[in-house]
Formats: sequence, structure tokens, C-alpha cells
Amino acid sequence: MYSDKVMDHFTNPRNVGEIPNADGVGEVGNARCGDIMKMWIKVENNVITDIKFKTFGCGAAIATSSMITELAIGKTVEEAEKITNQQVAEALEGLPPLKMHCSNLAAEALGAAIADYRSRTATTA
Ligand SMILES: [Zn+2]
Repeated sequence: MYSDKVMDHFTNPRNVGEIPNADGVGEVGNARCGDIMKMWIKVENNVITDIKFKTFGCGAAIATSSMITELAIGKTVEEAEKITNQQVAEALEGLPPLKMHCSNLAAEALGAAIADYRSRTATTA
């Protein structure tokens, strides 16, 4: 059912944890399988230098959140914002169609963290 890449990220997820003094935090959830995903980002000179996440959810949700951290680190805020659920699924060498909503969640969580980062910089600037 799952690709080796999905299993790898599920059993050995990257960048798990939280960033205490993060520049942006996003939290999203879906009712479909009860996944809850929280993501912290660190931004320096408009580049995402670090991301950590905590996901309470199904294997696909954990694998996609892990994958998106690897895709987004080192990218500018604008580039990271453009990462789609499709790109995450492709990087994981495919997800079962039933689990595509979980990859939506990863892109949404990152988007929410970026929105939070923007609102913070807007108020302090
Ligand atoms: Zn799920």
C-alpha cells in the first residue's frame, strides 16, 4: 500500500520536535482520520532555516509532515509557500488516493506557520 519512501519517513521521521523561539507556528487538523499537525518554522533573511513538527495522526500524515520539512528547509518563504500536496506526494513516491488528504494537511500546516510568521513580522516592522 505504501512506498518504501513513505515507510522510511513514517518509521524514521525527520525534524520531529518543536522550536521554542520559532518565528512562525501553524496548527491544522482534519476530521477524516483525526490527524492533528503542528509546525514550527525558523526564518532568517527570508529563508527557512529550520522546521520542526509534531503530528498526532496516521502514518501518511507523519510521513508527509516529515517529507515537507525536508522540502522546505533552505527555501525562501515564498518558495516554501508554493510547495503543494502534490509535490509532497511525489517526493514520497506516491500516496494511496485515500490518504491524499493527509498530504494536504502537511502543506496547510506549513502555510499556516508561514501566515503566522508574516503576521508577526507585519506587527513588529
Ligand atoms: Zn490521515
